[in-house]
Amino acid sequence: MSTKKEMMASIPKVDHLLSEVKIQNLLKKGPRSIVIESIRESLDEIRIEILECDDHHFKNFSIDYEILQEKIIRKVKEKKRMNLKRVVNASGVVLHTNLGRALLSESIKEEVWNIASNYSNLEYDIKLGKRGSRYAHVENLLTKLTKAESALVVNNNAAAVFLVLNTLVKNKEIIVSRGQLVEIGGSFRVPDVMEQSGANLVEVGTTNKTHLDDYEKNITEYTGALLKVHTSNYKILGFTQDVDLKELVQLGKKYNIPVVEDIGSGALIDFSKYGLYKEPIVYESIMSGADIVTFSGDKLLGGPQAGIIIGKKEYIDKMKKNPYTRAFRVDKLTLAALEATLKIYLDEKKVIKEIPTLYMLTITREEIDKKAKKLYNLLNENIKDCQIEKIDGFSQVGGGSMPLETLPTTLIRIKCRGLSPNEFEYFLRNYEIPIITRIHEHHIILDVRTIHEDEFLIILKGIKAVLSRRRGA
Ligand SMILES: *Cc1c(COP(=O)(O)O)cnc(C)c1O
Repeated sequence: MSTKKEMMASIPKVDHLLSEVKIQNLLKKGPRSIVIESIRESLDEIRIEILECDDHHFKNFSIDYEILQEKIIRKVKEKKRMNLKRVVNASGVVLHTNLGRALLSESIKEEVWNIASNYSNLEYDIKLGKRGSRYAHVENLLTKLTKAESALVVNNNAAAVFLVLNTLVKNKEIIVSRGQLVEIGGSFRVPDVMEQSGANLVEVGTTNKTHLDDYEKNITEYTGALLKVHTSNYKILGFTQDVDLKELVQLGKKYNIPVVEDIGSGALIDFSKYGLYKEPIVYESIMSGADIVTFSGDKLLGGPQAGIIIGKKEYIDKMKKNPYTRAFRVDKLTLAALEATLKIYLDEKKVIKEIPTLYMLTITREEIDKKAKKLYNLLNENIKDCQIEKIDGFSQVGGGSMPLETLPTTLIRIKCRGLSPNEFEYFLRNYEIPIITRIHEHHIILDVRTIHEDEFLIILKGIKAVLSRRRGA
């Protein structure tokens, strides 16, 4: 039996490990700094283990060279991997903001990469051979799809609202209903954005009821705009009233004040055709006479993160000259992805097939069930020691859209012997390709609505890895 001191002295030196064949192979692939960092960390872990272990365990303590080298190899692999990585979303929340919101269509892959990896006419007018506008590429598509006069794209909808208010209402007043001063996703509070933009907020009405009259009584010579905010992520039910956009537009006309609508999720198609709640459609706001409408690119539109501003040319032209437009400007990757996504909308039949977000929202119950059966069979045939069931449940739209929508779905429910649901959820979440599940009534739950069929094998491998870990423990 050796003492802790002797054990400490027996820990191999970094140089010694560097001369091992397996580590030499790691070094060949580089980078050296990562290999050394991984060796140091692994040796530190052994030191801590020696310091912390009690005398009884200590008797059996020995350093296994094979295991140590495997650990170093694993660490190097882990450190070389991207921090930003794909995950499997088995949560059933379609527009999951923490998991990246909308997924881009497979069909636009080539178009986006083509622009990303080559020079392009991003800000170059090819016909004239001189500087052009980066916004021109999507402007025609946007005006065609929304029936607006003009369009501008910035980084996200929060920036869009800010830019609109800063351009039209700075040092002036903007009238908004108290029922619409919403917080969206924790980091966007309508009143905060307004204040920062330099607009003075005039809140009218009450939480549940606002009448046209409430707006009209508050119009003064300082009023710069009337604002309507779509309360995307909640609904007030019961004794409620808000003012229709058309009425607000009439009021705006009467006093010659622009009407702005933050529509939030930005549906370009009518979701009620597919059995969902009707979300406000962008072109309907334009038809109703809104002067400016803003919405996100990565919610119900199903494109890249972007803030889209559409409406009257005279106002959009002013925004284009605002220095904030430069600060909020979108990258070529965004523009390429947005243009390619918008092109899909030219043929509505393609939209729900090719745009993943829309496909996942409109997929029929039968299709979901078929998909669930495939996953169920795969898991059932290959996993022992677990109770696997197929049950009915509900998915969520997420992303602060359609808050009342409950989408009937089929869930796979799993419970394994010797593994608590919390451990199970944790280990799946920490798998090489993280698998994000929910826990419900002592089971983990997988919702196939948000799982691609290509991911079924990843899930099987993930569960098997978790189970072997359990056995090893
Ligand atoms: C989501 C949302 C926003 C914020 O949009 P981002 O694109 O996330 O910046 C603003 N207003 C409304 C009404 C929304 O629903």
